This record gives sequence, structure tokens and C-alpha cells, in this order.
Amino acid sequence: MKTEIISIGSELTSGQNLDTNSQWLSRRLAEIGIAVAFHTTVADDLEDNVAAFRVASQRAGLVLVTGGLGPTQDDLTREALARLAGVELVFHQESFDRIQAMFARLGRTMPETNRVQALFPAGAEPIPNSHGTAPGISLQVGSCQLFAMPGVPSEMHRMFEKRIRPRLLSLGLGGGVLLQRKINCFGTGESVVEEKLLDLTRRGHVPEVGITVSDATVSLRILARAATHEEALAQIAPVEQTIRERLGDLVFGVEDEELQESVLRLLTEKRLTLATAEGVTGGLVARRLALVKGASAWFRGGLVAYDNELKFTMLSVPRPLVEAQGAVSAAVAEAMAVGCRTHFQTNLAVSTVGIAGPEGQSDKPVGLVYTALAWKDGVKSVSSNWPLAREEVQSRAAKQALNLVRLHVLRHG
Ligand code: AMP
Ligand code: MG
Repeated sequence: MKTEIISIGSELTSGQNLDTNSQWLSRRLAEIGIAVAFHTTVADDLEDNVAAFRVASQRAGLVLVTGGLGPTQDDLTREALARLAGVELVFHQESFDRIQAMFARLGRTMPETNRVQALFPAGAEPIPNSHGTAPGISLQVGSCQLFAMPGVPSEMHRMFEKRIRPRLLSLGLGGGVLLQRKINCFGTGESVVEEKLLDLTRRGHVPEVGITVSDATVSLRILARAATHEEALAQIAPVEQTIRERLGDLVFGVEDEELQESVLRLLTEKRLTLATAEGVTGGLVARRLALVKGASAWFRGGLVAYDNELKFTMLSVPRPLVEAQGAVSAAVAEAMAVGCRTHFQTNLAVSTVGIAGPEGQSDKPVGLVYTALAWKDGVKSVSSNWPLAREEVQSRAAKQALNLVRLHVLRHG
């Protein structure tokens, strides 16, 4: 049986608001072992709503709808469901009384327009809403069970938790758990990562292993379906182990962890201090480090040295080096890191230079980045080339710098 979520609202399809209801519902459904096959978003248009419901009722056995249950003219879910089922809308006294009572509690008289919220497709079952005026609707159409809930996230959450989830469980639709584990890597491309894991990412593997890339961070998602939480964990553990063995130090964290968290954990472990000297990233490396709780213990500070003069005066970068090689060069990145380490008196210093764009330089393309790391006994740099938008170049350059620190501390302490 397939499950579909339909979000209704022109504010969603127009891009004005983000559909967070589908995300929230999919996560809650996963917790009770129901995987969602389709997310549909549809504008406040009667024909389009009926069409979306029709498609969903034909391909899914369970459909959860949010939105369009308000009292105004653009709230069309009641009518669209009635059309889908081929029935009339009928008045439900008990729901009407509840809506009136809700207004009375707030000390307000009920506008006549709210009366429509007590209308339901004939044969449907009203779902009481204890936190708002819009009741939900439960409706069976053919072999499909539909539940319509309010669009207001807080009302929808409560209705789902209190009324819908227990119902799904008693219908035997849930019962198991879907558990997900995310493993994050940085330092190579998605296809290189996948090449090492082809036996795990093939379709039909249990548990399922998926791979996604976002801003150069490659993430593996292990998705286990099992009867209990423990069984799901037991499915995930050996697969995670294999992934870690094969990917080695490409792996920097799990779930929502970012590179800077990994860096600060390592600095703390090894008791090493860090400073930053940033060109192309304009302070982003420092900013990301500062996002981590307790960063100040090991991250001493940084300098944004956009202007070459600052590189000379504040970081002791030799003038002839910039004249000979240009500011965007491995040699200058290295000199900045060395100078920064000396001036900030830290164990480590990391630097960035590059071309963020949109215009490149005559001999240097947009996206060319050098990051360098200086430590007690040496300095090294790495270069990359991401021909992307300005902000993307900066974000990746910051990641590359953080990764340089991470790998050095991991390998050499
Ligand atoms: P409605 O029940 O369609 O009148 O929706 C009421 C309000 O809830 C809207 O104005 C939105 O602010 C919010 N809302 C509706 N649907 C969603 C959704 N899918 N995700 C997040 N917010 C929503
Ligand atoms: Mg709406």
C-alpha cells in the first residue's frame, strides 16, 4: 500500500511559504513504519484539488491532506472531497456546536462564514479539533482512506498526534519503525564515494543505503525498516561499520553534524589552538567555528585580510611573493597561514584565498581556491576549482579549509 501527502494552498505553490507539513508528517509516519511515496502540493483551486485527490485515491491506500479547511472562500478541501466521493456536503450539528463553543470561550461571536466548517461530505467522519475551529475529515473512497487536517502547523500536529496516529495504528497500517542514520563525508565526489559502496547502494539492499550531496558534503543515509527500534538499530550498525571502514577519514560526522563541529572536537581532544586568516571566505571559516558551543576554548580568532596591504602588514606575507605569484596562489595562502600562526600564537592556523566571482582574473578562473594550514613544523596547501556562484565558492572554500584542519589533526595530532 502506498501513502501520499497532499498539501493545499496557493501560498505554498507560489513559493511564498514552504510546505513544512509534508516534512513533519513524513517524519512522524516513518516513526510508525509508514513510508511515504508521494508528496503533492496543489494551489487553492477546486478543479485542481479534485484532480489531485483523484490521482492520489487511485494510486495510494492512505492519503493525508493538510490545508484548505478554513472558513474562507479559498478553502476548498471539503467541497473537493465531496466531489471526489460524488456526494453532497451535509451539516454536522455537533461540529457546529464545537465551533460555536470555541468562539464563546474566546469571548467572540461566531462569524456566519465559519458555518461552512461544520459541513462534511456525506458519509465522512468529522475529526474534532481541540485547538482551532477547523475540524478534520476522515473519508473512505474506494480502497483509499483519506484524512484531511488543518493547514496551521500547530493544529495539524495536535490532530495528527491525538486523532490520526492512533487510528493508523489501530488500522494496522503502522506497527514497525523506519529508522534513518546519516553519515557525512567531505573530500571527494559523490560518485567516488559510491564506487566504494556499490554493493550497499544497489536497489533492494537491506537496509536501504542512499547517497546525496549538498554543498560538496556527501551524505549516506541508511534506512532500516523493522518491527522494533532495536531491530532497526541492529540492521544499521554493521552497515555503518562497513561504510566507515571503506571510507576512512572521508567520514567526518553523523546526522546534522558539520565539519566545524568535527574540527572543534578534535582540537579539544588534542588540546590544540587554531586561528584563521581569510581572503575569499571573508570570515566564514571563523563564523562557522564560532557557531559551535565552547569554540572560544580552542579557536583564538581570525583576520579577514581582503586587501593585500593587510596581508603584508598583519600577516607578514612577503610583498615580492604577491607580486610574483598573485594573491590567489598556493605560496601566498601558505605565507598567510604561517604569518597568522605566528601573530596569533596558536598551534595551528588556516588560510583561504580564491576567486569568488562573478568575474575571474585574466589567468585565474572563478572558483579557484587555495587553502593552507600551518603547524609547528610545516605548512601545506590544497587547491580546488568550483566554477559556481559566489556564495557557493565561499561556502566550499570554508569547508575545504576546515577539512584541512580536520585531516591534519586526525593524522598527525
Ligand atoms: P489553511 O488551513 O489552508 O487555511 O492554512 C492556514 C495556514 O497554515 C496557512 O496560511 C499557512 O500559513 C499554514 N499552512 C498551510 N499549509 C501549510 C503547509 N503545508 N506547511 C506549512 N504551513 C502551512
Ligand atoms: Mg489555505
